[in-house]
Amino acid sequence: MSLEVQITIIGGGVIGCAVAYELSRDSGKDIVVVEKNRQIKGENQSSRNSGVIHAGIYYPKKVEPLKAKLCMEGNEMLYRFCAEHNIPNKKTGKLLVATDLLEEEYLEDVYKTAVENQVPGIEMIDGNKVTQYEPNVKAVSALYVPSSGIIESTSLVDKLYRLAESYGAMFLVGNEVFKIEPEGKGFKVKIRSGTEVEIFKTRIIINAAGLYSDDIARMVNPESPYRMDPVKGESAKFYKTKREDIFMNGLNVYPVPFGYLPPDGERLRVPFGEFQKQFNQGKVNRSAGVHLSPTFEKRGKEYIIGDTVTMGPAYSKPKDREDYSQVREEDYYLDMVRSFFPGLKLEDISLHQAGIRARLKNYYDFVIERDPEYPNLINLVGIDSPGLTASLAIARYVSELLRR
Ligand SMILES: Cc1cc2nc3c(=O)[nH]c(=O)nc-3n(C[C@H](O)[C@H](O)[C@H](O)COP(=O)(O)OP(=O)(O)OC[C@H]3O[C@@H](n4cnc5c(N)ncnc54)[C@H](O)[C@@H]3O)c2cc1C
Repeated sequence: MSLEVQITIIGGGVIGCAVAYELSRDSGKDIVVVEKNRQIKGENQSSRNSGVIHAGIYYPKKVEPLKAKLCMEGNEMLYRFCAEHNIPNKKTGKLLVATDLLEEEYLEDVYKTAVENQVPGIEMIDGNKVTQYEPNVKAVSALYVPSSGIIESTSLVDKLYRLAESYGAMFLVGNEVFKIEPEGKGFKVKIRSGTEVEIFKTRIIINAAGLYSDDIARMVNPESPYRMDPVKGESAKFYKTKREDIFMNGLNVYPVPFGYLPPDGERLRVPFGEFQKQFNQGKVNRSAGVHLSPTFEKRGKEYIIGDTVTMGPAYSKPKDREDYSQVREEDYYLDMVRSFFPGLKLEDISLHQAGIRARLKNYYDFVIERDPEYPNLINLVGIDSPGLTASLAIARYVSELLRR
């Protein structure tokens, strides 16, 4: 490896790979991606998520302007990319359901945001129309969102990685960045693989280190204000063909977003105004809720949408950023969905997997910016949901930031 490179990307999750793809495909730039896992597609957020292509209905422009913009742009870019490169995906559509008057206030709030963000094709529908889409889902009203879908996320990461590599980006897999020293306008980067240490210089660093991106930002600038407050999202599953009353046609079905109390994630059932007050005071967190989503399964070499319906995420506080243990039990999932999916029984449910979100403390939007002291460091911090959906738009945003 050359002792000096133009651009170093730290992290080979979907964001690092998308940025490597975007920057390498027409530039001939000298790009290195450093990934501490032994393989791309290793344990990280990009391999342990719900695989939902979000439509952009949740992010008010005032509070989360980057999430609103990049989710909307990313949604379209992702469907196009998947079609071009044969990535398993489906525009399933989504129902966001309210089961009583209290939940309708929350639904109304999401609807306003969706209208403001100009999410295409959305429609408020009544309970009868809901059952036309999904016969076993019970609701008084719902928001129908046609541009929501699902994707097999590891296939996306793999394709971005392979394309970037074919355009000349170099991937140093199984290497951890453990020290960065600013030097002139660039940086000296120290990486290790087991006991072997290598040092190289780079002009630009793009910090796409997911759950560790706040640490990387502070490695360069100890004054960096961002702090990770990771949250665990666990999921369970059931088989929709087990009984007629749990069959689903294949839409994403979500409850209205609600408040949950830290640290154990207990749901808050209060009028919307009260929730908003407590949320603004930082007393409760907001969750998209335990939803039902069709799931890709591998059959031979192909991915198909099988009979499995994934339920999640159920939030809890992880012990650390690698704590993938499952603390939620089957009855929790049943409790969370029984109001809108009454046919499900405890014995239908089995536990699935856990992932950890790179959520920031007291900050809700994505952070994508140059470090104020060391402008050749571009930090991507707090890239939690909808980071998968927004990945290609985030990569384009970074490329534009580099040109400014
Ligand atoms: C439970 C859950 C459900 C989600 N559901 C959805 C969803 O349905 N739709 C959606 O759009 N988004 C979803 N997300 C969010 C989405 O998965 C993330 O936003 C996205 O995967 C972030 O990608 P990333 O590349 O930034 O981070 P990661 O995938 O975590 O990758 C970061 C990489 O950096 C590497 N790294 C860290 N430190 C170093 C170091 N010092 N040196 C070298 N390498 C390092 C790590 O090993 C890791 O591979 C979900 C996330 C979770 C956890």
